[in-house]
Amino acid sequence: MKLILLGAPGSGKGIQAERIAEMTGVMHVSSGDLFRKAEKDGTDLGKLAKSYMEKGQLVPDEVVVKMVLEHIAGNEKGFILDGFPRTIEQAKALDKAFVKDGIDKAVLIDVTRDELLRRLTGRWICRKCQKPFHMVSSPPKVAGKCDACGGELYQRADDTMETAKNRLEVYNTQTAPLIDYYRKQGKLLELNGERPIEEVSKELLKKLGWRGDGRSH
Ligand code: AMP
Repeated sequence: MKLILLGAPGSGKGIQAERIAEMTGVMHVSSGDLFRKAEKDGTDLGKLAKSYMEKGQLVPDEVVVKMVLEHIAGNEKGFILDGFPRTIEQAKALDKAFVKDGIDKAVLIDVTRDELLRRLTGRWICRKCQKPFHMVSSPPKVAGKCDACGGELYQRADDTMETAKNRLEVYNTQTAPLIDYYRKQGKLLELNGERPIEEVSKELLKKLGWRGDGRSH
């Protein structure tokens, strides 16, 4: 399975990618997580990415493409890409890398702008295990602490209102054209993302022809 999850920042594609990966055993690749790890490790790639991420801008195509393609190289079981591709150039590079059979499906998780802003600016993440919380819809049991591992919660620099608006603008101008790109290839699946996480996952698996336990029919 070579799957792409499309959707604006805050659409829930990260959590869906994680859940589907867990249920199916297919590798989850988040370009944003790879950049955050590089930043934490203090590598040159991390330093470069940080300067773009802080402002909600996209990291240059050639940098992202190299990083993601290296990461997925040689993985026979396939992958679930979350946050990549984000531009037509990146999508073309991905198509070129899998020129024989291409990508299987691109799933668009649809959420309105008001809801995206509400979600993005209320998001807090565990520094240790990356589990996301939301101040309104899913607050942690103990303020500032992760329910799963007890780690410290923090707000990403790119989740403030100003940066959130910028990220949505970047999404609309640079990433949204991918919707038509995959529609024309006959690979687009669309989901309403303004529902509970479990419902979205269930429909996603159904649309992919997978059973609730993640096995294929
Ligand atoms: P995310 O966690 O997917 O929201 O990504 C966080 C940030 O990492 C984005 O706002 C970009 O600055 C950068 N980033 C992640 N994936 C990509 C990509 N495919 N192309 C360019 N920049 C990216």
